[in-house]
Amino acid sequence: MKFKESVLYELLKKCKEINGHQKNPYAHPLTCGNNSQDHALLVPMLNTQNFEIVLICPDCDYKQTNVPRHLMPDREECRKGFEKLGIPIKV
Ligand SMILES: [Zn+2]
Repeated sequence: MKFKESVLYELLKKCKEINGHQKNPYAHPLTCGNNSQDHALLVPMLNTQNFEIVLICPDCDYKQTNVPRHLMPDREECRKGFEKLGIPIKV
C-alpha cells in the first residue's frame, strides 16, 4: 500500500471505529455537550486542515475535538504522512 493511501486509510478506519463505538450497545456513546438527551449521537468528521477527527452533533453546532484516545488516529504518524505528501497542515 502506498504511503498516501495508508494515511487516508488510517483516518477512514478510525471514523469507522468511532461509528462502530457509537452503535455498540455495550459502550457508552459519545453524546452532544449541549443536549445529551434529545440530540443525536455525535458523528465523526475529518478536519482537512489539520487531519484531526472532530465529533459533531447533527442537531446543533456542537463540536468536540477531544476524541477518546483509543479512537484517534496516530497524530504524529498522520502529520508525517501529510508532510511527506506536501499537503500543508494548519496547526
Ligand atoms: Zn447537539
